Amino acid sequence: MESNPSILTFQLTMEHQKCLIIGSGPAGYTAAIYAGRANLSPVLYCGLQMGGQLTQTTTVENFPGYPEGVDGNEMMMQLRQQAERFGCDMRDGIIEKVDFSKRPYVVTTDRGVEVEADTVIIATGASAKYLGLDDEKKYNGMGVSACATCDGFFYRKKTVAVVGGGDTACEEAIYLAQLCKKVYMIVRKPFLRASDVMQKRVFDNEKIEVLFEHNTLGLYGEDGVEGAHVVRRKGEPDEERYDLPIDGFFLAIGHKPNTDVFREFVALDETGYIRTIDGTPRVASAADPTKALPGVFAAGDCADPVYRQAIVAAGSGCKAALEAERYLQTL
Ligand code: NDP
Repeated sequence: MESNPSILTFQLTMEHQKCLIIGSGPAGYTAAIYAGRANLSPVLYCGLQMGGQLTQTTTVENFPGYPEGVDGNEMMMQLRQQAERFGCDMRDGIIEKVDFSKRPYVVTTDRGVEVEADTVIIATGASAKYLGLDDEKKYNGMGVSACATCDGFFYRKKTVAVVGGGDTACEEAIYLAQLCKKVYMIVRKPFLRASDVMQKRVFDNEKIEVLFEHNTLGLYGEDGVEGAHVVRRKGEPDEERYDLPIDGFFLAIGHKPNTDVFREFVALDETGYIRTIDGTPRVASAADPTKALPGVFAAGDCADPVYRQAIVAAGSGCKAALEAERYLQTL
C-alpha cells in the first residue's frame, strides 16, 4: 500500500537531547555551566520558581567570592547568564511526567511537550512546608505567606508572626523587623535550632519577641488574618491558650523536596529526598535502590537532607554534569 505523503509531512519526531536539566537553582545552573562547556548542548527546564529558593532570600552572605554578600536574585541571574553564555537552552516549564522505564528517557512538560533525553539531571530543589492548618489555605494570600522577602513589604509598620526556630525563621524575622512594628517568633521548642550567629541577631533585635514552647492552633480574621489562636506548653499542667493579634503569619518551618514526579522510577527516602549511590550523584532506582538508573543524576536540595546550602548545591550540580559527560562517552 502506498503511503500518504500529506500524512507523512505532519508526522512529528520527538525532540532528542543529550542532557536535560530539571530545575533552575544553584544546582541546575551549575550543572548547565559545566554541561555547556562540555559541548553537551544542555536544555534546562526552569520549573515553577525560576532561580529557586535563593530568589526568595535577602542577602546571601556565605557564598564564597562575595565578601560583602550578594542579593539572592542577582546571584541567580548571574548564574543563569553564565550558563547561557555556554549555550544552555533555558526553557520555561514544569516537568509533570517522566518515563525512566526505557532509554532514551522521556519527560513531559506542563504544556504537553515531550522530550527524549540520554541523560537527565534532577535539580528540582525543595519547597516551603506548611503546618497543615485549614486556616493556612483559607487565608492564603490574605495574611499567610511562606516568603518574607516576597510579601514583607505588605506588612510595613504592622505586627507579624514567623513560625519556626531554624536559620530560615531567624532570617525572615530579622528581615521583617526592618519593616514591621513588631515580630513574634512562634517556636515549638524551648530553644532555637538556628546557628549561634543568627540567634544572637534575633535576641539583639528589640522588635523581635520569641515565644518559646508555642504552637499555632488556627488563625482568625474577617477579610484577612487578624490574629492567631496559640497555645503555650501544650499538654502540660500549666498549658495556656490565648489569641495573639497579628496582621501577617509567615511560615519558616523547613522544606519538602520536589520529587513526587520521579517517585515511580527513583528511590526516595522517607521524607522524599532522592537516594543516590554511595555519595555520587547517580540516582538509585526505585525498583532496586542498590542499583543506579543509568544516565540519571541528582543535584542540590532534592537529594540533600543534610547540608541544604547553595554552595553545596552548586558543587553537586558540577558533579552531576561531569558524571553525565562521562556517561555519554560510554554510549
Ligand atoms: P530547619 O529544618 O533547620 O528548621 C525548621 C524549624 O521549624 C525548626 O525550628 C523546627 O522545630 C520548626 N518546625 C518544623 N516543623 C514544625 C511544625 N510542624 N510546627 C512548628 N515548628 C516546626 O529549616 P530551615 O529552613 O530553617 O533551614 C534549613 C537549612 O538551611 C538548615 O541547614 C539551615 O542552617 C540552612 N539555612 C542557612 C541559612 C544561612 O546560613 N544564611 C539561611 C536559611 C537556612 P524543631 O526544632 O522543633 O524541629
